[in-house]
Amino acid sequence: MSYTRSSQLFAEAEKVIPGGVNSPVRAFKAVGGTPIFVKSAKGAYLYDEDGNRLIDYINSWGPMILGHAYEPVVQAVIEKAKLGTSFGMPTELETQIAALAVSMVPNIDKIRFVNSGTEACMSAVRLARGYTKKDKIIKFAGCYHGHSDSFLIQAGSGAITFGSPNSPGVTAGTAKDTLLAKYNDLENVATLIEANKNEIAAIIVEPVAGNMGCIPPNRGFLEGLRQLCTDNDILLIFDEVMTGFRLARGGVQELLNVNADMVCFGKVIGGGLPVGAFAARAEIMNYLAPLGPVYQAGTLSGNPLAMAAGLAMLQALDADRAIFKRLEEKTAYLAAGIDKVLKANNVVYTINRIGSMISVHFDEAPVVDFQTAAKGDNETFKKFFHGLLQEGIYIAPSAYETWFITDALSYEDLDFTIQAVDKVSKTF
Ligand SMILES: *Cc1c(COP(=O)(O)O)cnc(C)c1O
Repeated sequence: MSYTRSSQLFAEAEKVIPGGVNSPVRAFKAVGGTPIFVKSAKGAYLYDEDGNRLIDYINSWGPMILGHAYEPVVQAVIEKAKLGTSFGMPTELETQIAALAVSMVPNIDKIRFVNSGTEACMSAVRLARGYTKKDKIIKFAGCYHGHSDSFLIQAGSGAITFGSPNSPGVTAGTAKDTLLAKYNDLENVATLIEANKNEIAAIIVEPVAGNMGCIPPNRGFLEGLRQLCTDNDILLIFDEVMTGFRLARGGVQELLNVNADMVCFGKVIGGGLPVGAFAARAEIMNYLAPLGPVYQAGTLSGNPLAMAAGLAMLQALDADRAIFKRLEEKTAYLAAGIDKVLKANNVVYTINRIGSMISVHFDEAPVVDFQTAAKGDNETFKKFFHGLLQEGIYIAPSAYETWFITDALSYEDLDFTIQAVDKVSKTF
């Protein structure tokens, strides 16, 4: 396959956009080469500027769980656009999507909509600090919670890929209030809490990590965090920007039956438009302006096009009770197929999977945290990535990313992918 026109477009973009991209993870810095420019997408496929058709395993980094250009979402956006694109005043639509989200997710009474996952996590932490009147937070190495200052401390995929885990521009004053723990290591968290008695407002965690590959929590890890938080008056924040409305109707709280105090959303909840949200029980959410003292705002928050897309997406997921099982079955089928061919070709690898999230790591040790994820062989990953691209399959251009399975993928697509993995891994 040729990617000539994409390369030309990238050269043009580089002149006027830093690095040619509006989000660093889109660049091919970790794998070499130049990014692919998309013209359109439908269902399981991307169509690029060179006329190639690619099977898509990124799906806008998660949102397109039902495939690209999903008809009810597209129609909802078109209809709303005709009625005006932004008012800066309340609309009934906002209450509709809020009520639906609250009915689908456990333990939340109220939800506020923002424009990105970053905003959701940033605002949730501010609210947690205001509510608990404490300053520090605990985050885990390799977990990503968006690019706001407090979180750019060993922050997973994008930040790792580009070798700036602690970004310049984040002040020492801000960084000192973020305590770093090891994912899947409860003792480490307990030690941090002990050393910072009565100073910790919140623990924020990806309840299934997805930004250092896909790393499910060990048995007891989330339950242990829950207990530590309850015992020490700390709020437990589940960052479900990636997992919310993906791993189950009610997210990881439902899937693994652990209760969080606050939950952050993004990606799927916007159906492909820029939406984030954070939610909690009323007592906490009422602490937010205009009811309470913690300030948070947004000119375009609850934008009618974004809310229409999100509502159509959540309605589709709410109506189809078999969807999450179907997604899991497709993902398990893909994992089993890849496992079989990599084993047959004597590749050193580990496959992690939960629900519709999967990652392939080129190391044989179990990948359970940031340290073990970082051990994967990046040279093999580069061959894997470019080999698949030549076969017309698009995975994320970084070894630290999860693949997202969508309902639009057919078993023929999955078989084609498994055959391509077989072919490519013979060349390692
Ligand atoms: C993508 C992501 C974010 C950031 O969301 P943006 O919409 O990119 O700002 C936050 N947390 C997690 C877990 C994510 O995967």
